[in-house]
Parts: sequence; structure tokens; C-alpha cells
Amino acid sequence: MPFNERIEGLRAALAKLGAEAAVITSLPNVRYFCGFTGSNGALLVSGQSVTLFTDPRYTIQAGLEAAAQVVVAKGPLETAVEKKLGVYRRIAFENGRISFRSMVALQKAKGEWLALDDTCEKLRMVKSGAEQAAIRASVELNSAALEEAMRQFQVGMTETDLAAEIEYRMRRAGAEKAAFATIVAFGKRSALPHAHPGAAKISGRGLLLIDMGAFLNGYASDMTRMAHLGTVPAQTRKLFKAVHEAQLAAIDRVRAGVTTASVDAAARKVLEAHGYGKAFVHSTGHGLGLEIHELPRIGKKDKTRLEAGMAITIEPGAYLEGFGGVRIEDTVLVTTTGCEILTPTSKSLMVL
Ligand code: ZN
Ligand code: ZN
Repeated sequence: MPFNERIEGLRAALAKLGAEAAVITSLPNVRYFCGFTGSNGALLVSGQSVTLFTDPRYTIQAGLEAAAQVVVAKGPLETAVEKKLGVYRRIAFENGRISFRSMVALQKAKGEWLALDDTCEKLRMVKSGAEQAAIRASVELNSAALEEAMRQFQVGMTETDLAAEIEYRMRRAGAEKAAFATIVAFGKRSALPHAHPGAAKISGRGLLLIDMGAFLNGYASDMTRMAHLGTVPAQTRKLFKAVHEAQLAAIDRVRAGVTTASVDAAARKVLEAHGYGKAFVHSTGHGLGLEIHELPRIGKKDKTRLEAGMAITIEPGAYLEGFGGVRIEDTVLVTTTGCEILTPTSKSLMVL
């Protein structure tokens, strides 16, 4: 069972922290440590036991899924958890994830409360073989969904039409849902790195940015591809070429042992050389897994060393206000000698 190993990893971290038990309240971490996929759950992990607290809607599901003792609470989960905490003096909690109200309820137990910070998220960074396979399948589904959706593309569709088509294709291919609200941004709006698709018609001439991801069996995928409607102007070609080069340079840097900051620097250096340094307004990438954004961050100041088995995105971009933006994003798997690019979709600018 993978959950035993994961719980042992958490217990080792708790021992370092000097905690006797941990209360895990964020759903992705609850799922990671015991397999429960319901929308209401809290996990109490001690040296001897693993207990899942949920509500009566999930009695059957918890019994089927959870590698834990199950307590079905009639009222708020915090109250049920708090009643079990009396025997522990030092209790760890997810300070970055818990609501203030839940914390107040838990702190009725008179222990010393220790912040977990990123402890659980760090344990999740290196993916097991089964997790890698799940991410690979999610990435392949995502790419297939783009290909199918683009077959339905017609000039004059709105951004929302195309986003809906993409998400429909994901679901038809078996995805639970989109991993985030699909971004479809046309023309000048492609300069907004996180644009919401709107009623704007995709027609005339301009860049089209599509950033999409799916959840399949709980695991995320993430990809950005660029298209252009009409003849491609020289300035657009220059911008696309620079981002493409930056993305390849960052991928080339990925290998177990290098810092994430140096991967970011590889992309940044190329964009600076092309005069787009200031137009690259975000970090180069992020980990992904049970969540679309996980550790490690691949940014300027992030000193995490990559390890084989991490799944990360590489997604430099450059955004010119009033003109448009380009981002190219792949999901890659870190190996000891480099990385495996999981995303099968061609990176070339699709000319529509
Ligand atoms: Zn993305
Ligand atoms: Zn991303």
C-alpha cells in the first residue's frame, strides 16, 4: 500500500518537528495520505494511528477508499477531531491551509500547536511510479482534447466557445474536470497571462493563447500552446521565436541536482537577450500532481534542488500590452540525466 509509506514519511517529519500528532485538513493532503476523495474530511495522524473524520454523506465512500480508521461525525469535523486530541501535548497543523474558524475550534484542545508549513507539500514533490503514470495519462488526454477541439475550430467562434469545446473534449475523453478554468485569449487579450475567456470573437488577425489542463484519476496536466489567425507579422514571429528558445533552454537545464532558480534563469537569460526581459512577468514553472500548482516553484528565488521523479511545468512567456503575448508550456518529468517531456503536442505556432 502506498499510503503506509506516505504516512511513514509524514511521521518522520513529525518526529523532526517534535510533534506527537498532526491534523491534516486540506483535501489534497487528506487524499495523498489516505486515499479519501470526498469533499469533507480531516485526518488525524499519530505515531500509532491514522483516523479519517468525515460526515454521513461519505460513510460508504470512506469505507471503500480510506486507508484509515473512519469516524463519521454528525457535526463540525473540528469538534470531532478536537475530542480526540486530549492525549497529545504537541500537535502539528497545516498553518498555510486551515481557516481561522477551524483553527479556533481545534484549539479548544490544550496542546502546543506546531506549524507544518510546507512539510506535506514537500513530501509530495517526488512522484511514485504510479503517480508518474497518472500524470502521463492526464497529459496525453489533455493533448488529445486540444487536437479534437481544434478540429471544431471556426473563425468567428468566441473565446468562451473554444474553451467550452476544449473542456467538453476533456470530459468525453474521461477526465473528471478541467484542472483549472481553461484560458483562451485572442489578440491583445493574449497579453493577459491569466485571461478569462470572454465573448470576444476569434476573427481577423492575431495571436491565440490556449492554456489548458485536465484532472484524470485525480492527477493534473497543464499545457499552453499558441496559434495565430491570419498572416503572421514579423513582430509576432520574433516574439514567438524568443519564447520558444527560452522554453527549450529551460528544458535543457532540467536535471536532478540543479536548482529550480537556475532553470528559471536559463529561460530568463534568453528572453532578456531578445529584449523581452521585462515582458516575462511570472515564474518559469511549477510542480503538479493532485493539485495544478504544487511545489517546487521554478522561479527566480527558488533554491529547491530538482530530484528524479518530480513532475514540473516549463512555461516561460512574454506579454506586450496592446499587442499580445506568447507562452509555451510543457509538463516534464525530471530524471537523473535530464527530463522526459510528457506533452506530445507540437510546439509550433499553429497558423489558422
Ligand atoms: Zn498552464
Ligand atoms: Zn502551469
